[in-house]
Amino acid sequence: MTQLAEPAGSASIALPVIGHWIGGGPVAGTSGRRGPVFDPATGQQTKWVDFASTDELDAAVAAAKAAFPGWRSTSLSKRTDILFRIRNLVDVRRAELAALLTAEHGKVPSDALGEIARGLENLEFACGIPQLMKGGFSEQVSGGVDVYQIRQPLGVVAGITPFNFPAMVPMWMFANAIATGNTFILKPSEKDPSAALFLAELLREAGVPDGVFSVVQGDKVAVDGILAHPDIAAVSFVGSTPIAKHIYETGTRNGKRVQALGGAKNHMLVLPDADIAMAADAAVSAGYGSAGERCMAIATIVAVGDIHDPLVDAIKARLPKVRIGPGSDPASEMGPLVTRQHRDKVASYLDSAAEQGATIVADGREHPLFRDSDGFFLGTSLIDDVTPSMDCYRDEIFGPVLTVMRAATYDDALALINDNPYGNGTAIFTRDGGAARQFQFDVNVGMVGINVPIPVPVASYSFGGWKASLFGDLHMYGPDGIQFYTRSKVVTQRWPDPATSSVNLGFPQTR
Ligand code: NAD
Repeated sequence: MTQLAEPAGSASIALPVIGHWIGGGPVAGTSGRRGPVFDPATGQQTKWVDFASTDELDAAVAAAKAAFPGWRSTSLSKRTDILFRIRNLVDVRRAELAALLTAEHGKVPSDALGEIARGLENLEFACGIPQLMKGGFSEQVSGGVDVYQIRQPLGVVAGITPFNFPAMVPMWMFANAIATGNTFILKPSEKDPSAALFLAELLREAGVPDGVFSVVQGDKVAVDGILAHPDIAAVSFVGSTPIAKHIYETGTRNGKRVQALGGAKNHMLVLPDADIAMAADAAVSAGYGSAGERCMAIATIVAVGDIHDPLVDAIKARLPKVRIGPGSDPASEMGPLVTRQHRDKVASYLDSAAEQGATIVADGREHPLFRDSDGFFLGTSLIDDVTPSMDCYRDEIFGPVLTVMRAATYDDALALINDNPYGNGTAIFTRDGGAARQFQFDVNVGMVGINVPIPVPVASYSFGGWKASLFGDLHMYGPDGIQFYTRSKVVTQRWPDPATSSVNLGFPQTR
């Protein structure tokens, strides 16, 4: 990910520089370190982004710490009012936000708008905070004694987000974090940093007090500063597995509460009775949407028995119809990849797959935009006869490459999926309800789709994988999100007549 910061030089003068958002307003970076931001559709650098120093991070934490007492004392009804305003502003301004996503990430407008719509769900969920913050109350647990549980915010919390959802993943985090009364610091991906600042402006307009929401741009320096900072109580992370593991281990070692969501290798299991056209449509949509740069993308198809050949044929037949192009063309269904380096790494799996004995059914490097454009385009690739030892199966490719594997039986397919180190999402395609129910019971994966290829839970449930796809105990957003950003306090009370008071050194009993 992180490019070493390039020194500000004369070439940088003409380009806009994206800074931080600290203490309720934009702040220019002072570290002297910065990284380039590209338009992936043209391949041109369009901006710089400042990389924060630890002093700049300290300033954001100090502002967040100062804002916390006032924000946690703000009534739930007032916080709800502000959350409704944020929700409405994001809704009204969604086209502008989507344009920023297209300009820096490269995803086409329909995809960008979809991302924002899924993020909005999290804001809508958080609008129910008076209900979500309810504790429990037990009257008369002992004579004249009541017990109740309340939930309280943690303090300053931080979110570190990946390039592939620059608006939605921050909303996964900050909606519940600030609704529950915390103050929040966002460290967005340095590849597409503008959406975070756009959201910060909307939050200010909605009435979020200064210091409650801050943005610190940057690289490893900012991240490691967050992990070490004594005034940050909790860290939410979404990104690749090696970094997620680093975040979890370092953050928890430093006494923080951490949820760290990592990478994925999502299998789509297709049983012999599945509808082939429907399964092929789903595979193409979920494999190539957002150029495969989704943690819930289908990466590999496991075809059981005879359905393999007709399914591969049906997928192959659909590939020439996928319209690849820049987000500025309304006809485009799939945009470029995020950087040239990432595009070339994705393409390299076609070579290793062929060398290791797989069959290249479609090679995305044959798309004219791969050759003729300066943008980071790659066409759709389909690799068949893949086996578990091949690099294209072992690694998370995170690009528009679908691999296909054969399984003789359901049990073989299930064993393959359960042996995979990742456990983010999976899907089964079948017309047999009993088989689907058995799969749901058997599979060691956190999010399961039954004839649903991208089973991202709605915001009233929580999002999270198993195994190497998540480090920590609680999943992201939904009820787990409320739990993650709060801690529970249990109060035992009685109001006896002082005249009945006496000394009793025995351990308090309830009966
Ligand atoms: P990444 O791990 O490279 O970066 C994620 C964040 O970590 C960024 O903010 C980045 O600046 C920071 N970072 C990167 N390297 C670091 C380092 N060495 N030390 C400290 N911080 C570092 O991930 P990415 O390329 O931005 O995003 C793609 C990855 O995210 C894929 O693996 C994808 O599966 C995963 N992802 C997972 C989910 C999920 O919910 N499980 C969702 C979206 C993306």
